[in-house]
Amino acid sequence: MEKATIFKITKASEEEYLKGWTKLFLKGCPLRCKWCDTPESFRRTPDFYIDDSTCTECGLCVDSCTSAALYIEGMRIIHNVSNCQMCDKCLSVCPTHSIRIIGEAVRSDELLNHLLLDMEGKGVVLTGGEPYMQPNFVMEMLQGLKENGISTAVDTSGYTSFEHLKRTAPYVDCFLYDMKHIDAKKHAKYTGVSNQLILENLRNLCNIHDHVIARIPLVEGFNTDDEALESMFSFADECGVEQVQLIPFYQTDRERFYHIAAFEVSDAQFEPLKAESLSRALELGGRYAVEVVQSGHSAIDF
Ligand code: SF4
Ligand code: SF4
Repeated sequence: MEKATIFKITKASEEEYLKGWTKLFLKGCPLRCKWCDTPESFRRTPDFYIDDSTCTECGLCVDSCTSAALYIEGMRIIHNVSNCQMCDKCLSVCPTHSIRIIGEAVRSDELLNHLLLDMEGKGVVLTGGEPYMQPNFVMEMLQGLKENGISTAVDTSGYTSFEHLKRTAPYVDCFLYDMKHIDAKKHAKYTGVSNQLILENLRNLCNIHDHVIARIPLVEGFNTDDEALESMFSFADECGVEQVQLIPFYQTDRERFYHIAAFEVSDAQFEPLKAESLSRALELGGRYAVEVVQSGHSAIDF
């Protein structure tokens, strides 16, 4: 059985698409979107996090660490990741509960048993990060869920080998496929990777699967102009996606966990999405054959 690092299990809220479904967050992502609000998903391995806002610099964690992975510098606790054994000792001594290890290695069969206890008849969405960075685990989870009659969805950036998408497609009820920009230069500048593979994979995936939903994070000033929107709607239409969903980006939680990935994240700031940008996007979307809706307002269910 495959092991993978996951960092969160939640239920999709009333405002989200596939509400009530279980969301399983896998660590690891090949993209570095400048607006990302889950930088704890970037690395495949667990992250060590000290909340400076609650840490009192008492030093108990430093004393408890036998691996010389913690020391005090000035008024801060510094963590040396290369020495850290992720042993949890420092977590248990911290009086303010300021330390967290984000991410845990789990076996697919154990996780499956855990999820099956709490399904309430709904499905499971594999998300991240990019789930296909741990492709064998994804395959085992999807097969296990389908064997137990559970609906499945995979939320992917599309930046992966098409072989992974193809191999898992028979076990996926619905693909949630991110589309950020058609302009290659802009895509590379704001996400760190080319969009060529993503667009190719979307086209090919629509040829072998009937339920592919394109999801566009609407980021003010990045992809909210008419040209960007029209080129994405047109491409999605041409590929034959089932629906386009717009995900308004309001940047509510940007500071959370940011310093665990500070060296990888730009300090680019984005304004919250304006109401007029969302209504303009929906108006433009109405001109295409493919249905364009705000995420959470979709009537498609599985
Ligand atoms: S034990 Fe907790 S409060 Fe004390 S220095 Fe370490 S992280 Fe800060
Ligand atoms: S998790 Fe263990 S090795 Fe890492 S800093 Fe804490 S006590 Fe030290």
